[in-house]
Amino acid sequence: MAESEYPPLGPDVLIAEKMAESLPAAALSEICETLWRGDCQTCGSSIVSGPIALYAEATLAIASVSLHHPTCRAPEWNDGGGTGLIRTPKVYGDHTTYIYAGMVIDDYPVVLMNNQLEIAQLRKSSSGWKVSTIDGIRDFHRMFPGGSMPMPPASPLVGMEVQISDSSIKISAQQTYLFEPGWEVLRAIKEKSGLILAFSSIYHGQNLTLLTAGEILRHSTRTTLAWLSLRPEAPSDVPAAEYVVYSNGEFSVAGTVLARYPSGLLAISEVVAWAKEKAVVIDQIPLAHFIDEPGPRSDVSYAWFTDAISLKMYLVLRTRDAWLLIRSYSRYGGPVPREELEQWASSIMRHKSPHRVVRDWFPGPRCEGGMILLSHALPTTL
Ligand SMILES: [Zn+2]
Repeated sequence: MAESEYPPLGPDVLIAEKMAESLPAAALSEICETLWRGDCQTCGSSIVSGPIALYAEATLAIASVSLHHPTCRAPEWNDGGGTGLIRTPKVYGDHTTYIYAGMVIDDYPVVLMNNQLEIAQLRKSSSGWKVSTIDGIRDFHRMFPGGSMPMPPASPLVGMEVQISDSSIKISAQQTYLFEPGWEVLRAIKEKSGLILAFSSIYHGQNLTLLTAGEILRHSTRTTLAWLSLRPEAPSDVPAAEYVVYSNGEFSVAGTVLARYPSGLLAISEVVAWAKEKAVVIDQIPLAHFIDEPGPRSDVSYAWFTDAISLKMYLVLRTRDAWLLIRSYSRYGGPVPREELEQWASSIMRHKSPHRVVRDWFPGPRCEGGMILLSHALPTTL
């Protein structure tokens, strides 16, 4: 193995008893799959081989887990004794960032990045602790879940920009990344005036094949994607869109995802209040006059409301991880075969959205009592 490869954790992982008790087994294995042997987060030197300690700092709802030499830091689940007040000062080293920028897929330049090999974020919801590293990046920059390739360009991104010179690219996000991707990728970026940027918690090795890259880019929870444009920002009234189809055998909904909220933290009445506030801001409704719609069955996994002035209809829908606020168009009856559902949803979106025609639908997040499909699109003005 080349020196610059970062292996997975392997069997030499030391986990504190309290951490094993605090986390479900699924979360522990998810953490171990998310972390890679880069540098010790205490002393900064390599942890490519030998035993490795997981050190976690946890408040009530969020936690971070990092990798250390056991001699630098003992394995620990540090929740401040359940107070949520963490007593240890952070002495983390730099995280290793891995950037793969050697790809042009269907003429689109792709930059794939794992920006922190040795640290993972966790979030606690009603279903317990879960790795949220990629969700956090996606929500912060308003990126998309990993999906089918080629990704349609979709802009604008929040808090991120790209600059290009004759030989290098500089991506400024929460950190700045400067790298030299090679002439094919630079040429494609110039031709397309942008690039597909993917953050993934999957480490892809130094010798990535297009097949492996495609699998990573399609991973809906461990990868997030966006189009990062060299052009000026798209007009703010036509942002990129994430489409959703939801079907539960009684009714089907096609629409645009407007916002997300972590599930499990709010009662449904509070979720509806949150959703109405969001709808007012996002759809610029001047005099909101919402009417709550009764659902076709008593089910707390979704709720409807309509704006009486604009007649826009909204659905809030609970998936396993988040509430989705969807500006929706619906039809009753079903179940509908998937192909018919996709055709119906694509035709609705073509008429109701200023975006390009939806190309592909792919399975979305899991949800109770129904099926979710997602698609992405960019404004027709680009
Ligand atoms: Zn160390």
